[in-house]
Amino acid sequence: MKKVFVMFLCALCGVMLVSCGRAAESDTENVTKPAAEISETTAETSEAATTSVTDVTTAEVTTAEITTTTPQTTTRPITTTKHTQHVFAEWKTVKEPDCVNKGSKERECLMCGYKETQELPLKEHTFGEWAVTKAASCTESGVKTRKCSVCGKTEEAGIDAVGHKFGDWQTTKAATYETTGERVRKCGVCGYSQSEVIPVKVLTDADKLAMAREVAQEIADSIEGDTDLEKVSQAAAIVAWYSSQCNYTMEGKDYATAYGVFIKGEYSCAGSTRALGLVLECMGYKWQHANENQYTHQWCIVTMDGQEGYADGQVGWAGYGKHPVAE
Ligand SMILES: [Zn+2]
Ligand SMILES: [Zn+2]
Ligand SMILES: [Zn+2]
Repeated sequence: MKKVFVMFLCALCGVMLVSCGRAAESDTENVTKPAAEISETTAETSEAATTSVTDVTTAEVTTAEITTTTPQTTTRPITTTKHTQHVFAEWKTVKEPDCVNKGSKERECLMCGYKETQELPLKEHTFGEWAVTKAASCTESGVKTRKCSVCGKTEEAGIDAVGHKFGDWQTTKAATYETTGERVRKCGVCGYSQSEVIPVKVLTDADKLAMAREVAQEIADSIEGDTDLEKVSQAAAIVAWYSSQCNYTMEGKDYATAYGVFIKGEYSCAGSTRALGLVLECMGYKWQHANENQYTHQWCIVTMDGQEGYADGQVGWAGYGKHPVAE
């Protein structure tokens, strides 16, 4: 078999290259053969060619440190060159990865055609929008699903329960100052009804005073008379009647208040004085609390018909001047 060898210089590195310009297998074989064997083969060729090949094989090919490790293509000139490191071209993607199959890329040595291959990792799934597959209710969670448009894999996730949508509280039993009440509200979606205890009403001092003032105003409105003394005497008598209906006490929170006398049913002379004072206020009088906060008898000091006098809500007396029995 006749072989023609061609010699040329690499434009990149200046290394001498040799090619026979024939089929890849036989060329590779020749190149990797020991120099002696090649010389034998080339002896068949013409004189001119023999000279060239002998020079190349002894000078260059036998000293190559890297030889091709992948088969040469037939369209490429077969080259073997002296290079200690491959000179790679850019990576080229051979197979695009998707979410199921890994891909690959390769790069080729510009000097010897050696190919290096690397794996390309899996891609993320290409999920579409979430679709509700089971709607959440007030109290139970739901399910949503999405699907990969590439491989069809589905993914599920929970949907939080939405919670009740309650309407306003409706009082079903009002609380009093003694007993608790109850109120109810209903979910407009599922009808669930929730009830709650309304705590016992707490009376503030202001509440108590307002309640006592209502009674005092009624008393004031009922009083008739020509002189201040007549009117104040009636008021004192009425408050004394209320006091007589109460338990006399010096314990608790209310005995010294108008609320104690008019509402709660407990009193002391301090409470009677404040109850009468409240009625006097409702009648349009100004008054002073005699012996306020002292451990002694107490009454109202009030000006009637242009004279200072006294009005006592415990015993029901009123008059001009000083209190007849107490100081
Ligand atoms: Zn190479
Ligand atoms: Zn997928
Ligand atoms: Zn509900």
